[in-house]
Amino acid sequence: GNEELYCIGCGAQIQTENKNERGYTPPSALKKGQETGELYCQRCFRLRHYNQLEKVSATDDEFLAMLSQIGEQDVLVVNVVDIFDMYGSMIPGLHRFVGSNPVLMIGNKVDVLPRSIKHSRVKHWMLQQAHQAGLRPFDVALVSGKKATQIDELLELIEQHRNGRDVYVVGVTNVGKSTIMNQIIRAATGNKEDIITTSRFPGTTLDLIRIPLDDGAALIDTPGIIHRHQMAHVLTANDLNIVSPQKEMKPVTFQLNPEQTLFMGAVARFDFVEGNRSSFTCYFANELKIHRTKLEKATDFYEKHKGGLLQPPNEKDINDFPPLVRKEFNVKEPSDIVFSGLGWVAVQNPGKVAAWVPEGVDVVIRQQII
Ligand code: GDP
Repeated sequence: GNEELYCIGCGAQIQTENKNERGYTPPSALKKGQETGELYCQRCFRLRHYNQLEKVSATDDEFLAMLSQIGEQDVLVVNVVDIFDMYGSMIPGLHRFVGSNPVLMIGNKVDVLPRSIKHSRVKHWMLQQAHQAGLRPFDVALVSGKKATQIDELLELIEQHRNGRDVYVVGVTNVGKSTIMNQIIRAATGNKEDIITTSRFPGTTLDLIRIPLDDGAALIDTPGIIHRHQMAHVLTANDLNIVSPQKEMKPVTFQLNPEQTLFMGAVARFDFVEGNRSSFTCYFANELKIHRTKLEKATDFYEKHKGGLLQPPNEKDINDFPPLVRKEFNVKEPSDIVFSGLGWVAVQNPGKVAAWVPEGVDVVIRQQII
């Protein structure tokens, strides 16, 4: 009949039309649920049976409403960021919304860092970036959602600082928050059923996942928002997989003369403008091919070969790809030129270099993290 049905897990109205919206239930499951009287939406079903969280995103307005409600409570805020894309990970204005609540920053994807990288330096850099965005986390933790490294340590750190309060986990999409939350659920609940419920802020339609903690407080997963300054915004999902470092990076060193250029596929470009011949070490996804050419010819070379010899993006997608924008750096000490979301080039000796990235993507200089 036409009666309205509701999920007994989260209370969402059941619908069978749109997979990405609240209350979605596959028609077969709907039938079965009606027969047994246990009707769950697909999201709650998966949570109950597999302790598997699916990702949800919010609109900008919903996200802001959520943040300001978090700010009105006495809670611990955990902000998940991608260590390869600090700029694209920062939630604009987060420091204003969290008010006086303590913030713990979690840098995800530590599995991708080569062993030669000092974690203490990475943390230091992350703190600097956070401060620049006005955020003052009391600590930074490095984890891997994918490899489940440091998850127990993370839970311990949270336990130390929450003082009986609820913990809200926030992050923009693509930083790996769902992956981490699924590891946390696994670690914190030992795969027991029935311990996860969804809840909502009054007056919003946002689903929050509450993972109950021992003392009645909860760890709360929140929807993310899309950050406009991410590579995710200018690439297809497939290309994003190619350019995002997925496995431990194998750095590649080039001996360059001044006036030589490196292309990272067609997504980024590095010019050695001025200085003495020296070595440049590239830290990018192993699948991203690096091509060396002469600076003098580089712009013509790019126009001719983008989408072909220089990929990704491929021939089909290159026309939708924004032009590369140039930013110059005067290097005075051993430094990394960081291409947000992609990786970095370590520069050993003083000189002048230029980095090119799609408009909207950030590129910055930092002290070397070796
Ligand atoms: P969310 O949008 O923040 O929930 O992000 P997801 O959990 O969906 O992850 C986004 C992408 O990052 C996926 O392709 C994941 O496989 C990848 N990812 C997540 N965590 C890690 C990690 O610790 N290491 C690596 N290498 N990739 C990760």
